Order: sequence, then C-alpha cells, then structure tokens
Amino acid sequence: MQSLTRALFVLLMTMVLVLSGCSKSVEGETKKWKANEARITALSAQYPGFKAALDARKESASKLYKEADGLDGDAKIKKLAEANTALMTGFVRELDGLDGELKELREKRVEAAAKAGDKSSLLGAKVAAEDAQKTIERVDSTLKTGAKDEASATAVLKKITADIETAQSAIDKVLAIDKEKQDAKASDAKADADAKAAEKAAADAKVAPWKCEYCDNMNKHDSMKCESCGAARPEDKKDAKAPTK
Ligand SMILES: [Zn+2]
Repeated sequence: MQSLTRALFVLLMTMVLVLSGCSKSVEGETKKWKANEARITALSAQYPGFKAALDARKESASKLYKEADGLDGDAKIKKLAEANTALMTGFVRELDGLDGELKELREKRVEAAAKAGDKSSLLGAKVAAEDAQKTIERVDSTLKTGAKDEASATAVLKKITADIETAQSAIDKVLAIDKEKQDAKASDAKADADAKAAEKAAADAKVAPWKCEYCDNMNKHDSMKCESCGAARPEDKKDAKAPTK
C-alpha cells in the first residue's frame, strides 16, 4: 500500500512538472529572450563574419519583443514567444548547432581512421577521413568569410549543413562496411573453432577405451579382445575403431 501511495505521489509530481514546463509565462519567455540575446552575442563573437546578419535578425525580432510591451495576459505571452522564435529560427538555429555537428564530424573522422579493420577498409576509411577533413576546413573558411545579410547567411548555412551531412554519411558508410567485415571475420573464426573442436572430438573418440559387454572391463581402444575375460570386441566398435596402424 505504501508503495502505491508513493507511486501516486511520483505520478502527481511528474504531472505538475510537465504542466508547468509546458505552459508559457511572461516570466519564462522574458528569461528565454535574455538567454537567446546572450546566445546571439556569443555567436557574433564566435562568427564575426555573420555579425551583420545576426544584428539584422536581432533588430527585427526586437521589434516583436517591444510590441509585447503594449499587451498583457495571453496576448503578451504569445507575442514574446513569437519574438523568441523569430530571433532563433533558420540560419541562427543552424549556426547555433554547428559546433556540435563539427565536433561529431571530427570525432567520426578520427574513428574512421582508427577503426578500419583490414587493408581495403582502411583505404576507404582513409579517403572518407580525408574528405571529412577537407569539409571541416572548407566549413571553417566559409564560416570565417561569413555572409553579408540574412538571405546569404541562410544560403551559406544550408550549404554548410549539407556538406557536413554528406561527409558524415560517407564516414558512417565506411564504418558500417568495416563492421560487416569484422563481423564476417568473427563468424569465420567461430566456424573454424567449431570445425577444430569437432575434429578433436572425433580423434578423441577413436582413442577412447571400450567397455566389455560381459565383464564391464574398460579396454584399450586398440584391443581387439577384452583384456580381462577375452571376449571378442563388439562388431560396431571393431568397425568404428579398428586400429589404423
Ligand atoms: Zn570382458
């Protein structure tokens, strides 16, 4: 009963958290705006070439943000949320996520170069890793150049994102093929081990002692008569285990 009470309590708390997290508030949207503004400032510092486009974006979104001043209640919340979306959408969102994507590509590049198991995979991995490196360098230089306005920033970011994706999927493909080869190798090795075990079992069976059906004496594998009572070795054993020497 106690655990049921506890489970209900946890459920209730979860619902409260979810509901409070979902419902927007003036305070929440204002806080979000400040955080987004700080993000824009940080992006301008990190990518100076995009400063003009980022400033333009900030200016247009700020207009929406200021419009919220004359509103209250749900209308105000709605306008603030609109301002937040307007500030961060499109190329800003892409620029914001670029660090993570480039980091992932760099890591995959290293992985591709290190993980390729055999010579043919290594070659493919090397090519993919080199391509990735070229992409990273091209992206870095494009980012440095930047874009003069929002429209070109959008186009530039679209190209960059597509380039990163292409390089990533090329590496993924190489790694997947390499994994397949490794798996095939492992299953070949297992088949080999199984065959050897079967061979050993057969060899062991050939030299296994045989039991006399009259006196239960255990006789050497190559004895044709019971060493104890002299009874003849049973036919099936004679056939199967006739000495080969
Ligand atoms: Zn015997």
